[in-house]
Amino acid sequence: MAITAIKGFNDILPAESGRWQHIEQAARRVFELNGFSEIRVPIMEKTDLFCRSIGDATDIVEKEMYSFVDKGENSVTLRPEGTAGVMRAFIEHKLYAQDPVAKLYYLGPMFRYERPQKGRYRQFHQIGAEITGVHDPLADAQVLNMLVQFFREIGLDEPQLQVNSLGCPECRPAYRAALIEFLEKRVDALCEDCRRRLSTNPLRALDCKVPGCIEATAGAPSVLDSLCTGCDEHFSGVKRYLELTGTSYSINPRMVRGLDYYTRTTFEMVTTLLGSQSAVAAGGRYDGLISQLGGPAIPGIGFAMGVERVALLLGEKAFTRPPDLFMATLGSGERAFAFNLMHKLLQKGIRVEMDYEGKSLKSQMRRADKLGARYCAVIGESEVASGRAVFKRMADGGQVEAAMEVSEVLEILS
Ligand code: ATP
Ligand code: MG
Repeated sequence: MAITAIKGFNDILPAESGRWQHIEQAARRVFELNGFSEIRVPIMEKTDLFCRSIGDATDIVEKEMYSFVDKGENSVTLRPEGTAGVMRAFIEHKLYAQDPVAKLYYLGPMFRYERPQKGRYRQFHQIGAEITGVHDPLADAQVLNMLVQFFREIGLDEPQLQVNSLGCPECRPAYRAALIEFLEKRVDALCEDCRRRLSTNPLRALDCKVPGCIEATAGAPSVLDSLCTGCDEHFSGVKRYLELTGTSYSINPRMVRGLDYYTRTTFEMVTTLLGSQSAVAAGGRYDGLISQLGGPAIPGIGFAMGVERVALLLGEKAFTRPPDLFMATLGSGERAFAFNLMHKLLQKGIRVEMDYEGKSLKSQMRRADKLGARYCAVIGESEVASGRAVFKRMADGGQVEAAMEVSEVLEILS
């Protein structure tokens, strides 16, 4: 029996990869325009890094990590997200010493042991960005505006921006206590997961998707009512800057994130088109993370988007470039001639295809059609002898007779 891929690990086939490149290129373009540079970090880290940053009582660390002991008896983990590794590198290479304000982006595969379904896989891909070193809500607003700009750039206006503030170590404990008190009164209505994490991670109950939990938490206290003055002012600043730049958003006080390191601003880009996989991108501020990982007390804010979900939203639209010219040939001498012309045109950036194996003219024309070639030229003995051929525009059948010289062909195609 043939060997298949591991469950939840996908191949990105040629029909799809054009869409992926379109997404990646747009992200690079928009992020670099905003002053971000790419950072490439390993896909595997010491397990401790994720336990310490994401938090022991989160879904990711509790049950989703691909961790194993390597041959040297080290516990290692395939990264479930990007921020921890990026901040590990930021600290390890003392990037803050040159400039505490760093704007970094990354892209690549992430790994979580989840139940595979549409928009949820075990190997998936994220594109993320981080700004370190800025407390001011301007950084939050720039990150959010950049995310919105990215979605506009790839032609999607559907995902909506939702924002919230989760407070800080000063004000969150009081909110947590109030929420626990509220949940304890309804403990019988909560699912097993929410009951179990009632004391370790009670905020998760707010975004639990089990109907009973949604109902039971409907009247839960809002985190926004218990923000301290500093957090309240910060959140007002974020909203003010978004309004200043005309960025539309809604406030979702029930939004919590599945990672412990978030403080203050959190946000998601949500869609109604992907069922319960509604978050296309998500992120927030993590003012305590860098010091928690042994670095200096430098704040940060960032997000990650799920490339598979963005690709699903883009639909079946193809982003591959069709050939500019297909050359059909009638014999082996003509094939050699066409091959040489193709070589010269390729050097000029013209996308050319030809038949490699002496197929019938009919089947060559079928292939030209299938590939969506803009122009087609049939090259036979007399064309080679005269050095001229007829270039047929496939869209409307319009024909131009010209020399098979690079300069003339370039002119026809322009
Ligand atoms: P969800 O609530 O859907 O599980 P999450 O809160 O776990 O998402 P984050 O950790 O914030 O997700 O990751 C950021 C983005 O990465 C998500 O918004 C989503 O687009 C994508 N993502 C997360 N997990 C997966 C997965 N298993 N498969 C595909 N994409 C994913
Ligand atoms: Mg998740």
